[in-house]
Amino acid sequence: MTPILAGKILWVLTVVGWYVIRYPFERRARRNRVARTRRGVPETIRMLISLSGLGILPGLYVATGFPRGADYSPSWLQIGLGLLVMIGALALFRLTHKALGKMWSVSLDIRERHELVTTGIYRRLRHPMYSAFWMMALAQTLLIPNLVAGLAGLVGFGILFFSRIGPEERMMEETFGAAYRAYCERTARVLPGIY
Ligand code: SAH
Repeated sequence: MTPILAGKILWVLTVVGWYVIRYPFERRARRNRVARTRRGVPETIRMLISLSGLGILPGLYVATGFPRGADYSPSWLQIGLGLLVMIGALALFRLTHKALGKMWSVSLDIRERHELVTTGIYRRLRHPMYSAFWMMALAQTLLIPNLVAGLAGLVGFGILFFSRIGPEERMMEETFGAAYRAYCERTARVLPGIY
């Protein structure tokens, strides 16, 4: 086994783990109907960009080796760090889904009987699922030994994150008003105490 092969296998396992965690919540949330949404062309574009960076480009690399010119040889230490970050990302991802429960959405939706979740992993952070995605993108960078396919996750998710966070917080504020403003004051976005 080479570090390159180990990295590729671990990246595939990350995607499988991500889907296994998400699927039951996706099914459950379908039963809680959407009351209002911020979906639209900009939201679709940023989701496609993020999907390309976190899924399509690294998937193409794992399947075909494209783009070969950007390959490099990773050390076992790099792959080991990638594994640790991957485990942390998936654990955090699961905590966020458990806390959001029926309020979960793949996009920007407010559901019928939507409640503001401020407990569990949402006590100190207001976007812990995005923290998990940042960690997943970092794990991808460590596990995929190709400068283009490896870094595509950070770039793709970064574009989604910085363009979505404003509309998402406005939507939450319109829905929950003073309660959300107070919640913002006592929480950080993705890094406790820092940002
Ligand atoms: N930004 C959050 C959630 C992403 S999922 C995070 O990173 O953890 C996006 C959906 O979650 C949106 O449709 C929004 O309505 C919902 N949401 C986000 N924060 C929430 C909260 N604190 N309580 C309830 N729903 C929330």
